[in-house]
This record gives sequence, structure tokens and C-alpha cells, in this order.
Amino acid sequence: MSANDALRKIPVVVQSAGAARGGGLEWKRRAVQTAAILLLILVPITGVFRIDTGAGFVVLDRQIWFSDFFIVFGVWLALACLLVMFYSTLGTSFCGWVCPQNTLSAWANRQTVKYLGKRATIDWEGHEQSKVSSGKNKLRNWLILGGKLLLVAMLIALIPMLYFYPADAVWSFVILRDDPRITRSWYLIYSIFVLLALGNVAVMRYYLCRYTCVYRIWQFLFKTRQTLHITYDQSRSEECAKCNFCVTTCPVDIDPRNTLLYDSCTNCGECVTACDSLHKKAGVAGLLRFEFGERKVEGVRPSSNLTSLAQRAGWALPVFVLALGMMAWGMWQYQPYDFSVYRSEAWQGSKLQEYRISIAHKIYQRGVVNVRVEGLPKEMYTLAFTQAAFDTAERKDIILRISDALPPGVHSFMVRAQSAEGWRDSFRVQHFVGRS
Ligand code: SF4
Ligand code: SF4
Repeated sequence: MSANDALRKIPVVVQSAGAARGGGLEWKRRAVQTAAILLLILVPITGVFRIDTGAGFVVLDRQIWFSDFFIVFGVWLALACLLVMFYSTLGTSFCGWVCPQNTLSAWANRQTVKYLGKRATIDWEGHEQSKVSSGKNKLRNWLILGGKLLLVAMLIALIPMLYFYPADAVWSFVILRDDPRITRSWYLIYSIFVLLALGNVAVMRYYLCRYTCVYRIWQFLFKTRQTLHITYDQSRSEECAKCNFCVTTCPVDIDPRNTLLYDSCTNCGECVTACDSLHKKAGVAGLLRFEFGERKVEGVRPSSNLTSLAQRAGWALPVFVLALGMMAWGMWQYQPYDFSVYRSEAWQGSKLQEYRISIAHKIYQRGVVNVRVEGLPKEMYTLAFTQAAFDTAERKDIILRISDALPPGVHSFMVRAQSAEGWRDSFRVQHFVGRS
């Protein structure tokens, strides 16, 4: 008997398909999923984090370079500790409750069912006998569904743009306003993003999670028998005699009554909501629930509750505190400018004639840096300009030209830079003049 046949034999199932939505667990999950997508949009808009293709990561309008070691390593270490504890305690709940791919796949599936019928599922494995409902197989339904998927794909494609371009420039792009920052490449990049997003919501959906997501495999590494999981009340198993609603509800096609330590379960809770909705009328709880603690494995005697989680917290918490300390130290030491002096390519015979003073402003604000040379007579050098003014985060080079009249020998001099806000740095140069 197929899953759908079994479903049809239980009258209450038809009613509970709706009741399964909007249950206590369901609205909480929807709220978390919505918050996750909003966060994904707000992070670049508020400047908390974005990417500058020429400079790397940008946090709160400050470029973070790999040379800002304590910040980069501290953030990485803190995130690693948090994620290890998250995966150890909540397992793959990220997939079921946070991951936008999962959220969009579920939404696309619901829309498909709404416009094309219950059995209009995308099934690459041929298990479901997918079929468009004859009553819904109308051009109007196909057009509405296609239009909705395209609209959502166009909106999703704007999110990665926000990480690479300023939010106001992306807004100009959306409302087709003239903006010198928008180049032709924007249209190409956006079209590629739209195509990828459309292919994802229209065709790939959960298959991307199931067959390509390495992040899911990564989360498995940290699961233990005590990680949050679904348990089944075996003592009431006779209630399942004519039912498999939870199985047909499960988005990853596993049997929630028998979850394993390493299976595809994403802790989404749809099966719990489904079973609860079946038993709601009778005023009893469903047979499925989340359990946080020792997973019962046949033939294995449970150890004391949460032992392995406590062990992980035992090393993860001190490392996390260390990581926070590194981040704080890195932020304290953060330099708004990067300053260096290079030998230029300009030589006259065997004599080096020029140096390039390179100043990078790492903050997306205006800034001014004054440069001076100490240790050389004024008539022995010329600076192309002594003040570098920055409109935003950018790099400026100043050419320092050494006079031919400098006598042979080694001349040690200092190049000093100082910003209006008080930042200062210096660079010692050993200049050699040979006998001609
Ligand atoms: S666990 Fe609940 S939803 Fe699943 S088959 Fe049994 S009664 Fe039906
Ligand atoms: S078994 Fe339940 S919690 Fe796990 S993925 Fe399936 S429906 Fe979600």
C-alpha cells in the first residue's frame, strides 16, 4: 500500500493536513525561519558584514584584512566553538529551522501543492508517482505558480548583491534609477543569480540539501547519542496501525518513528506537529516528540545523561572565552590605515631614484593623512604631495623622489605619516648611493 493510499484511509488526515500547519511548533519554526532570512538581508544593509572584492571582509564599515590576525582568528575560533556546541546539542536543527534553502524548498513545495495538487511533487527518484491534479491542470494555475517562483527568485537574487555592493546602489538598481555605480556587469551578475535561484526553487529544492550539501555532513561530525532527536512512544504503536501521516509529512522522506543517529533528519518537527494534530481531538499528545538526552540504541546501555555534551562544553567554553579575548585585543589594536614604503621602478643608471609611499585607508569614511620625511636635507628630495585626502576606504600612493645630488654612501631617513584623528606610523629607509 502506498503512502498516499494509507493517508486517504484516515479521514482525520485530510483535516489534519491543515491543522498540522500553524501548530505550536510550526509557528515557532516559521518565526525562526523568517527571522533568519531577515537577518540575512539586514546584515549587509546595516553594514555589520559585507564583502569588498578588492579588500576582503568589511565589518561595521571597517576593512578587516588577514593581517588583522587577532580579529580574524578570534572570530573564526569563537564561531567554531559556538557551532560545535550548537551541532552537539541541537544536531542538524540549523537545516530544519534556520537554513534559507530549506525554508524556500518548503515554500515552493507548498505552492506547487496549492496550484497543481497534492501529488504534484518534484520526484527525481520516481518514488512518489508525481502527477498534476486533473482539476488543477489549468494554464492559469501554471502561470500563477511560475510567476510566484520567478518573483521570489528575483527577490532572492538581490540578497547576494547586497553583500557585494552598497545597499543604496542596489536600491537604485531595483528602481531603475540612474546611478554611476551601476555598470553593465551588474545586469549580467544579477541575471545569473536569478537563474540560479529560479532553478533552485523550481527544480532543485530539497535535492540540493540531500545530495549536494556538505554543510549537513559537516554537522554530522559533532552529533552524539545525546543530541536533540525525535523519539517515538513504542508503547502506543497500535495507534499507528492505519496511519503513516508522519512519514508522508517528513520533508526528507524518512520514517520519524525510527530515526537514527546519522540519518537525514533535520529536527524540523513537522512529524511532531502532524502526529499531535491527529491526536488533538482526542485531547492526548502525539506519539512523537523531541528528546534532548541519551538516545536509546538497541544493545547499548545508556550512559549518564548529557555526559558527552558536558565534556564538549568543558573545552569549548574556555576556548570561546579565549577567542573573545583575541577579538577584543584585535579590535583594540585595529589600525585605520596601512602604511608602507616601496622602492619604485625608477632607476637612473645604477641609482635608485624614487620610492612609493603607499597609504591604505581601511574605513569607509573621509580621512586625511600628512606625510613628511626626516633625516634628509629638504633640497635632496621632493614629495609629489604631502597630504593624502581620502573620500572613503581606498589606497593612495605618494612618490618620493631622491635628488641626484645626494652624495655617495648609505643615507638613513624616516618617512612619517599621521592622520587627523591621531593615527601615526613611520617607516625607516636605508638609501644607498653608489659612486658613478
Ligand atoms: S506516529 Fe503519529 S503520525 Fe506517525 S503513524 Fe503513528 S499516529 Fe500516525
Ligand atoms: S523525522 Fe520529523 S523532524 Fe526529522 S526531518 Fe522528518 S519530519 Fe522533520
